[in-house]
Amino acid sequence: MSNLGFRPEDVALPVGHFLAGKLVSGKADIVVTSPGNGHILAHLPEAGGDLVDEAAQTAARVQRQSGWADCAPRERAKILRRWADLVERNAMELARLETVCSTRPIAQTVGWDIPFLAEGIRFFSEYCDKVGGDVATTATNLLGMTVYEPYGVTGAIAPWNFPLVMASWKVVPALAAGNGTVLKPSEMTPFSVVRLAELAIEAGLPAGLFNVVQGSGIATGEAICRHPAIGKISFTGSTRTGIAVMKAAAESGPKPVTLELGGKSPQMVFDDIPSVDDVADRIFRAFTGNAGQVCVTGSRLIVQRGVAEALISALVARCGQVKALAPWDENSLYSPIISESQANHILALVQGSVHSGAQELVACKRMNTQTGGIFLSPGMVMVQNSECPLWHEEVFGPVLAIQVFDEDDQAFALAEHPVYGLAAGVHTASLPRAMRAIRTLKAGTVWVNRYGRSSDFVIPTGGFGGSGIGKDLGRQAFEANLRLKSVLMAAE
Ligand code: NDP
Repeated sequence: MSNLGFRPEDVALPVGHFLAGKLVSGKADIVVTSPGNGHILAHLPEAGGDLVDEAAQTAARVQRQSGWADCAPRERAKILRRWADLVERNAMELARLETVCSTRPIAQTVGWDIPFLAEGIRFFSEYCDKVGGDVATTATNLLGMTVYEPYGVTGAIAPWNFPLVMASWKVVPALAAGNGTVLKPSEMTPFSVVRLAELAIEAGLPAGLFNVVQGSGIATGEAICRHPAIGKISFTGSTRTGIAVMKAAAESGPKPVTLELGGKSPQMVFDDIPSVDDVADRIFRAFTGNAGQVCVTGSRLIVQRGVAEALISALVARCGQVKALAPWDENSLYSPIISESQANHILALVQGSVHSGAQELVACKRMNTQTGGIFLSPGMVMVQNSECPLWHEEVFGPVLAIQVFDEDDQAFALAEHPVYGLAAGVHTASLPRAMRAIRTLKAGTVWVNRYGRSSDFVIPTGGFGGSGIGKDLGRQAFEANLRLKSVLMAAE
């Protein structure tokens, strides 16, 4: 990789809300710092109820008056495709904005986040004119139909771990379906989505259809969930906050919610795997990608005794190769932790588990950097039993908890989690074992002999139980932004 490195101080940050196509400032109390060097990047204003109301009313008015919902849907598709083109044309600017305040290294924002974002816009643009209703089988003197219509305005609340990608998963299908939308990014990663919204207008999206409001979850997020003009909420974040979002949506509607929440996803490895090295690569990526700050992080390794020693030593070796470089260094591949408090939380969870009897194979500890970024090295812990906090609590950091099994039934029992059911991985050469995993694991996604989503949008993602409700990605995410109306016409 070359020529990707940059100086963070050279990046111009769009600081403020984005309302009716304009950047709007205000009393700026929220301090935004970079996890890459700890420097203060900006002071951010916070949208209270009044500003959220203005954003929602603007989106509703523009959605009604601009023809966005009423035009031939292919006209929407054209604008979305132009938006994707503009994202690609401005890829370097977007990538730098993303890298400067999030945990995403520049090689990855250039190589994955921005191409994935453009791909997502094109994916959902293709549904605009391809999802219609049905004609029902009524008596011949009646015409019965189902038609889809947009909600009007949707609310989107995004986390900090993949700011552009997460926001686009919510905003793009909502717009493609004919809605206006109000997005609140995380207060820790507020800049790149503003530039994304500006590019949407450049592509032809009516100004005011896609508004961004900045602020904390308690003030701004809650106001979005409770706003009467907002008909549907899409949220990604912790299970605790997801419950609060659902409660607010219920009390102010009720209105439907899509919730993509936490996880504690297992990776099962059987001793029939053809290559320990290949599986070690997958497992390592699955718990260290974005330094473990991914909802589907494969944070629990369930490994059969026959292969345990070889696999664990291959993983230990990989832990030693990680380098902490500032995210804007073109050679950076490993992410910082988003904040000091998150780093302390991760270390406290590990220390608590070790004090209660877990065996630390590789210590998760602070890494020294020349830039002053917040980095934790990957850690591996053999837990004594499933009561250990590291086995059941979401860490959201680069820590792998391990248990060894002998019989298949033990492995399947260990894979179950009392709360979460987001994703699971199974690594085996046995088709019957793979089939058993697909059929029996209580997880929204099961990966066989791989771990992680594909780099397109065709397969929906979402969790069972405490990991959420509804799906992002896929046709299902588009349809979730439409409501079904039933029509019955008498022919006389
Ligand atoms: P949160 O769930 O607290 O936040 C996610 C988003 O929701 C943020 O934009 C946040 O705002 C907002 N929010 C917070 N409270 C409310 C509320 N009452 N009503 C509406 N919106 C609200 O996650 P964190 O960012 O604090 O991360 C903590 C944990 O969440 C992680 O350790 C991890 O377990 C999980 N997480 C899961 C993710 C996933 O991909 N599934 C992604 C990120 C986190 P703000 O933060 O600006 O105040």
